[in-house]
Amino acid sequence: MNEVKTPKKPMIFYYIIVLIILLLFNFLAMPSMLGLLQPRVSEVDYGTFMRMTEEKNIGYVQIQDNQIIFTDKNTENFYKTGVIDDPRRAERLYESGAKFSQQIVKEMSPFVNFLLSWVLPILIFIGIGQFISRQIMKKAGGQNSMMFGMGKSNAKIYVKSTSGIDFSDVAGEDEAKENLAEIVDYLHNPKKYSSIGASMPKGILLVGPPGTGKTMLAKAVAGESNVPFFSISGSEFVEMFVGMGASKVRDLFKQAKEKAPCIVFIDEIDAIGKKRDGQYGGNDEREQTLNQLLTEMDGFEGNNGVIILAATNRPESLDPAPLRPGRFDRRVPVELPDLKGREEILKVHAKKIKVDSNVDYSTIARMASGASGAELANIVNEAALRAVREGRAYVTQEDLEESIEVVIAGYQKKNAILSDKEKQIVSYHEIGHALAAALQTHSAPVQKITIIPRTSGALGYTMQIEDGNHYLMSKEEIENKIATLTAGRAAEEVVFGSVTTGASNDIEQATKLARAMIARYGMSEEFDMVAMENVTNQYLGGDTSLSCSAETQTKIDEKVVNIVKEQHKKSVKLLEDNRTKLDELAKYLYEKETITGEEFMNVLNAE
Ligand code: ADP
Ligand code: ZN
Repeated sequence: MNEVKTPKKPMIFYYIIVLIILLLFNFLAMPSMLGLLQPRVSEVDYGTFMRMTEEKNIGYVQIQDNQIIFTDKNTENFYKTGVIDDPRRAERLYESGAKFSQQIVKEMSPFVNFLLSWVLPILIFIGIGQFISRQIMKKAGGQNSMMFGMGKSNAKIYVKSTSGIDFSDVAGEDEAKENLAEIVDYLHNPKKYSSIGASMPKGILLVGPPGTGKTMLAKAVAGESNVPFFSISGSEFVEMFVGMGASKVRDLFKQAKEKAPCIVFIDEIDAIGKKRDGQYGGNDEREQTLNQLLTEMDGFEGNNGVIILAATNRPESLDPAPLRPGRFDRRVPVELPDLKGREEILKVHAKKIKVDSNVDYSTIARMASGASGAELANIVNEAALRAVREGRAYVTQEDLEESIEVVIAGYQKKNAILSDKEKQIVSYHEIGHALAAALQTHSAPVQKITIIPRTSGALGYTMQIEDGNHYLMSKEEIENKIATLTAGRAAEEVVFGSVTTGASNDIEQATKLARAMIARYGMSEEFDMVAMENVTNQYLGGDTSLSCSAETQTKIDEKVVNIVKEQHKKSVKLLEDNRTKLDELAKYLYEKETITGEEFMNVLNAE
C-alpha cells in the first residue's frame, strides 16, 4: 500500500546533476580509467629499440606515423618509442624475426568507448540515486515524503492471515464483543441489513483505559469478518508538516473504499478529535485533519462496507462534532476487566506458556485487582521469565504471585539492609494496616504481608484482596478504608510514640478518598448532593478539577481534614485495644519477613 511512485518534477533536477557530474567525470576520470583496460606500455628510447632488434628480442611490432609500438619476444612487455628516420628499419626487423602487426594495442571500438564513458556512468549514477531515495523513504516511513511531493497515508494494511486475531483471543469484555459481533454479521451478510433498510453505524468509538484490549477488539472484528484491516494512530495524522494530516485522511479513505468491505481503525482519535476551542491561533493542522475526517465520513453512503473503529482513553476531551449521529454514533465501553474477566484473560495468556496443572487462576485474579488486560499479560510473562530464571520447565502458582508483586511493587531489593529498628517499625506499620483491616468487618481480608523492600521504594506492604466484585461502596466502607490506611502510622505511634516518613503513600490515598467523599459522592451533610469537583480524566489516573468558590474550597479542606483525623483516631483506638495481638503479629512478621493471610488469621484467632 505504501508504494511510491516517482514523481516527475524533482527527477529532472536529478538528471541535470547527473549530467554535469558525468561531463566532469569524462574529462577528469575517464582517461585513467580506460588505461586500466589496456596493457601498460612503457616508453623507451630508440637505442633500446635498435638493441632489441639486434638481439632478435622483438615479438610484435607496429609502426605508426609518430610512434613505434613493440613487444618483447614472449609478448610479456609492451614498449613504445618515437619514430626516427631510419630507411633500413623494416629490413632489420624482418631479419630479426619480428612479426609485423597492425594492432598490438587494440584501439577500443567507438561503440565500446561510448558504452564505457557514457552509458556505464549513467547507469551507476541512476543506481546510486535509486538506492539513496529508497533509503530515505525507508527511514521516513513516508513521513517526510513531502520532499517528494506526496502525502500518502502510512496506514498499515493487514489482510486476514493465519496469525489473525479473533474474538476468542480477547477474554472478558463480553458486552463489547456482543456489540461488535453485529458488525461482523453485517460484513458477512450486508444484504440481510440493507433489505430491511437498516444501515450500519459508520463509526464506532471504543472507549476505555489503556491496555484493555481496544486495539485487539478492532483487529478481532477484522479477523472474524475476514476483511482487510487498516490501522493508523491519531497522532500519526498530526505530523510535522502542515497540510499533511488532511491529505493523509483523504488517502486513507481512498484506499479503504477500494478495499471495501474493510475495517479502518483509528487509534488515539483524541489526538485529532480534541475539542476545538474556537480560539484564534489554535491548532489549524489538527482542525483541518478533523474536518477532513468528518467530510469523508459524511461523504460515503451508509452501506458501502467501510466500518470505522476508533479508540480513545479520554472521551471527555473529544469534540462533539465527530460524536454526532451519522459519524461515531455508537460508543462501546471497554472497561477494566472484572474478577471473572481477569481470570479469563490470565487463562488466555497462560495458554501461550507452560503452566503447572494446579495453578489457581481465581486467586491470582483476585490478587491482581484493578489490573488491565495488558498488565495481566505482563504478569503472565513475568512469571514465565521467573520460571526460567529459577531453572524450572513450567510456571507455578508462586511464580504468578511473585510476578504480581513485581508488577505492582517492583523487584525485591535483595541487598537493601534495614537496620533492626527500621525492620521493627516496618513490621508494626504493616501489621497495623492488616490488623485494622481484619478488625473492621467490612474491609477486605489480607492476602499477604511482607517486609522485604522493593525497587519501587516500598519497604513493605500489605496486599489486600477483594472477595468479589464491588460496584458500590458505602460511606462506612470508605471510612473503614481510610482507617485502614491510617493504621500503619497509628501502629508506629502506639508502639514507638514517634512517627516516620513511611506513611506518605497512605496519606495520599486517604486524602484522595476523603476528598472524593465530600466533593464528588455527596457524603457530607453541609454540601448535600452538590458536585464540587469534576473528573477530567476518567481513564487516565482520574484527575479532578475543582468547580467551586474559594470559600467552599476552604470548607472542603476542613472537612477532609476532619474525616481523616477521625479515622486516624479510630484506628489508634483499635490498635490500642488489641495491643497484645499487635505485638504478637509484628514479632511473627519480623521473624518470617513474609506471611500469608492464612498465617495472619491463624495467629490473630489463636487464643
Ligand atoms: P488498548 O488498545 O486498549 O490500549 P491493546 O488492545 O493494545 O490495548 O492491548 C494490549 C495487550 O494487552 C494486548 O496485546 C493483549 O496481550 C493484552 N490484552 C488486553 N486486553 C486483553 C483481553 N481482554 N484479553 C486478552 N488480552 C488482552
Ligand atoms: Zn502504610
